[in-house]
Amino acid sequence: MNASGNPALVLNADFRPLSYYPLSLCSWQDAVKSVFLNRVSVIEKYDQSVSSPTISFKLPSVIALKDYVMPQRKPAFTRFNVFLRDNFTCQYCAKKFAANDLTFDHLVPRCLHGKTTWQNVVSACTTCNLKKGRKLIQNTDMKLLKRPVQPHSMQLQNNGRNFPPNYLHDSWRDYLYWDTELEN
Ligand SMILES: [Zn+2]
Repeated sequence: MNASGNPALVLNADFRPLSYYPLSLCSWQDAVKSVFLNRVSVIEKYDQSVSSPTISFKLPSVIALKDYVMPQRKPAFTRFNVFLRDNFTCQYCAKKFAANDLTFDHLVPRCLHGKTTWQNVVSACTTCNLKKGRKLIQNTDMKLLKRPVQPHSMQLQNNGRNFPPNYLHDSWRDYLYWDTELEN
């Protein structure tokens, strides 16, 4: 069986995905291991099954942790999380980009002793980054979309919901669109 196939969606004990973007998935091998270690409950299954000489069972497609995991209050200050905070949108031209096409821009440039912090770093496309260069924004004709702040984990989770993954198994949909469906 293809090792990258049949991943399981991992839900927290409250049945919400552990994370939306990237979506919390684990390989079928890890899913099976967690079931045997009694750490998770199987919520939905694939049609495919695995078998050993003694038993055979269907691969889990959705699993839920038995113990609730508290989301970290302070998200890690990473490039990815900065892009997620800014919704993968250049904070100068307000256009959306793929992560590969986004860069980090220091509001107060490093050459002016600007720090690499949540409050001084924004997502910028390459064009805007080059255009701003080592200037302060007030010395350019550019506008800042939003003053950057340190996000809460909840805010990053919410932003992550806007980015559905390329592949969605049918059995995941209810869990991913739980909140969306309630709004209708
Ligand atoms: Zn831009």
